[in-house]
Formats: sequence, structure tokens, C-alpha cells
Amino acid sequence: MGLALRLRLAWLFFCLGLAMQICAGAAAQDSKPAQTAAPLRAPDERYKVDILLVVAHPDDEGAATAYLARAMDEGKRVAVVYGTRGSSGSNEVGAEQAAALGAIREIEARRALSQLGIAEVWFLDGKDTASQNVLQSLSNWNHGETLQQLVRLMRLTRPEVVLTFLPGTFIGEDHGDHQASGVLATEAFDLSGDPVAFPEQLAGATKRLEPLLDNLRPWQPKKLYYFADADKEDIFKGLGPAYSVKELSKANKHAYWRIALDGYLAHETQSRAMAESLKGMSDAALEKLMTTEGYWSDSLRFVRGKSLVGGSATGDVFENVSGEPIAFSRPEVGPEPQKPDFSVELGGPWSFYADFRRAHGLTHLPHPEPPEIALQVATTLVIPLWVRNQTSSPREISLTAELPSGWTVQSGAGKFSIAAKQTAAARLEVSLPASIDGTKKNEPQEITVHAESGGRSIGDVKLRVELRKRALPQ
Ligand SMILES: [Zn+2]
Repeated sequence: MGLALRLRLAWLFFCLGLAMQICAGAAAQDSKPAQTAAPLRAPDERYKVDILLVVAHPDDEGAATAYLARAMDEGKRVAVVYGTRGSSGSNEVGAEQAAALGAIREIEARRALSQLGIAEVWFLDGKDTASQNVLQSLSNWNHGETLQQLVRLMRLTRPEVVLTFLPGTFIGEDHGDHQASGVLATEAFDLSGDPVAFPEQLAGATKRLEPLLDNLRPWQPKKLYYFADADKEDIFKGLGPAYSVKELSKANKHAYWRIALDGYLAHETQSRAMAESLKGMSDAALEKLMTTEGYWSDSLRFVRGKSLVGGSATGDVFENVSGEPIAFSRPEVGPEPQKPDFSVELGGPWSFYADFRRAHGLTHLPHPEPPEIALQVATTLVIPLWVRNQTSSPREISLTAELPSGWTVQSGAGKFSIAAKQTAAARLEVSLPASIDGTKKNEPQEITVHAESGGRSIGDVKLRVELRKRALPQ
């Protein structure tokens, strides 16, 4: 027998043997007793968490880390979602800017969280938006796509509790991106348990390696807590639990403020100058500084947004949380407020938030009245207005502004006409003075827009404006 023939025969016997083995295997499977049930695929337990923190930028988690460290001491599992990679922040370390800085800050965030023991971290591809206007941030973040991904992550991580920025606008840093993370987290809280919201995420795979359907299940988180991006905390007091940041962590024996500070310092592009300024300070001096208002204050306070499992507003975050799934709960939508047929009202983020609170069952959330904003000297204040004419005839209105001395109307005052059944956007622009009047420092100034038609008032719009040397653009 030639070598070639022997090799061919050997190959033939090998293949025959293989085929017989496969047949035998199939026969053995066919003859398995029917009572041995094969388990259907279950959700991946490695990604189930107790707390999902949703914030805007790498380093924003610092608003909650003093609490997260405490919750993790108690065995709670935590995941974090960032809206952006912080690509328009400062860089105190190197020359990198823009998307390159975003790539650095993503790593800094992962390092900061891994110090705490948090490995589950996601980024939502939103773009940094330097303004106080949440609507600009939502637009720049591709609101719909970002929400879809956050709902997906909520269904994947199945949090009991969601922590996020309070969706509202206040005198403070008032970053539109911070607000956007709170808006999205609230929307996702209300949608992730809804079987008709993004149903493609809930469909079972129709064939092996199906690349389109997520095969997730709806998930209703139980509680939603907020922290505010505002300077003054008085309007939030008593609306949620408070946790001391001076207590020592059982796990690593450091005070919770210290754990939060160490996490923040891992964001070196944002904190190198601060780290330098803290060098050489005694522990006591450091604690005194870090537990003041500008830093972590003496305790970390939350505002309870929602609880679907009862409990008291100021009770522990995990009060009444059992770990058992609960049924989907559609938010209770408040009644539409009665409005006159012909009216002028403040628009922009202010009217959005009034509608948002009503639509998400959050009418108990604090908000300043009259509305307020802090702006930089020598910039322009824009007052967005809705002019609504629900009557059956066209109307004429005239807008005038009552301003502090030194403030001047740039545009938008005067006479306008509005068609029957029309709702139109208008805006009044005011030039702000170049310096802050010494006696009125840090005192918000009240401004009023009067709207008149045919010699009769159809409403006043009020806004309190605080001038600052530096503030985010409106
Ligand atoms: Zn931020």
C-alpha cells in the first residue's frame, strides 16, 4: 500500500469515527429523560446592583461618594453612569484638550471609582455643554439616544435605588449637564419598567447571535433620590435623609469625607492644583475645611424624589427596600394647570421644569419662586417667553421690562402681534452691568417683564438675577 493511499484510508476512518461519535451524542441527547429540565437563560447576576448613580461628568460622583462608601460598607453594590467624558473641562496636568482630555478623564473616573471598589462604569456619549440651560445639554447629548441607552443600562443593572442630580434650575453652579443627568435618570426611572418603552430591548432573541434584540426584562427601580447643584441648601432640608461625612468607614477606618476627597483627587486633570494647596495641612485642618459648605459640608443630604415602596422622606435610603422585584408603576401625572386664553409666561428651562415635575409625579420638588439665576457681569440675560393666544382673534401685545439701574434692554421689548390660536416664543434680552454694585453683592435683583394688550395687563413675568464675577453662560 502506497503512503498516499494509507493516509487517505486513515483520514476516512477518522471521519467515520467522528461521525459515529456525533450520532451517538445526538442519540444520547434524544434519549434524555424528559424530566431533566434545561434552565432557560437568566439575567447576568454579576451586573445586578443596589444603587445606580447617574451623573454628568467624571468627578461629579464626588457629590455622592461619601454616601456610596457607607452603602458599600453595608454590602451594597453600586454602578455609575456618566453622561459625558468631560471633554470641555480644565486640564491641570497636561496639554491635552477636547476629545483627548475626555479619553483621559474616562480613565480618571474609572480609577477614582476603583479606589472605592466600583468597577461597573458606563459613559453615555453626551457632549459637554457649558451652559446653565438643561435644554441645550439635552439637545447636545442626543436626548433620545442617550435615554435609550440609560434605560438599557437600568434594565441591565436592575438598581433598587437611583441617585442623581436634582432636575431643576437654581442659583449655584447650575450646570445644564448636571441637570440633564437628573432629567434622564428620572425619565429612565419611569420608563425602564414599562414594557412598551423601547420594546426592542425586551424582545427575546429570535435566532442564535441575533444582533438586534437585547433580551432584557423590564425593571422598576424602587426609589429615586436627588442631590442639588445649588448654592443654598435651605430649601432642600428635611426632604430626604442626611448622612454624616465625619463618621469612620468600618471597612477602611477613614472618615467618609476623606474617602470622598481621595476619590476626587484621582481626577488629577481637575484636582492637581487643589492637591497642591492641601499639601502639608494637618488632618484636623483638612477635616475642618472638607466638612464646610464649599466641599462636602458636615453631612450629605438627599432629596427624596420617589419611593414606590413607601417609607418616610427622611428615612434611610434603603428603608422598605427588600430586593424583591416590584410591579411597574406609571407616574401619576398632575392635572394641567388652568391658564388664561391670552397670556405671557416665562419659557425655556423654567416652563419645561414645571411641565416635567407635573408629568413625572414630582410636584413636591422644591423650586425657587420667583425663578432665579446667577449670571456673569457684562453678559446678556435672555428672558425666554411663551406668548399664548387661545382666543379666536389676532391680538397685539406690548412688552416692557422693569430693571435695576444700570441694566438695559437690548432687544425684545415693544409691540408684537400674535395670530388666533397661536403659541409663540418671544425673548427679551437685557445687557448686564460690567461691575457688581458693592452694596448689593450676592443679593439677587428682581426684574419684571410687563405684558399689556389694549391698555390692560395680561401678566407679569418675574425673575431674580444674581450678578457674579464668574458664572456659566446662560
Ligand atoms: Zn460636573
